[in-house]
Amino acid sequence: MAQAGRTARMAAARRRDGGTCVWCGVAFDERTRPTREHVIPRVKGGPSWLENEVEACRRCNGERGHRALVEWLEECERRGWTPDVGRLERVLVALQAAIRERGGQRKARPQLEGQLRRLRKRAA
Ligand SMILES: [Zn+2]
Repeated sequence: MAQAGRTARMAAARRRDGGTCVWCGVAFDERTRPTREHVIPRVKGGPSWLENEVEACRRCNGERGHRALVEWLEECERRGWTPDVGRLERVLVALQAAIRERGGQRKARPQLEGQLRRLRKRAA
């Protein structure tokens, strides 16, 4: 299945997630623009698919860098923010299903499985 272009994917992410930063919760407006955040970072094999993309503010996106999801999530919590853990888990589950369906993404798979396991362990 062909993926929509970047702009269309970000519009879809907005409809899906509601227009707030996944990490700090800031609501986007004319002054605070969203950036495209890869839940599994590109350098760790994360694809540019809607299933791996969420909106984050520029600060959070930049400060996370290439850090693993749960590592950065816990840093956000130490700072007193309330990251959208539910959204992150939904995206990881959707990414897992998309990879099963489309195949490939060998590099992303162990990252994805490991991060999802860590997220669920935290919730338990
Ligand atoms: Zn943010």
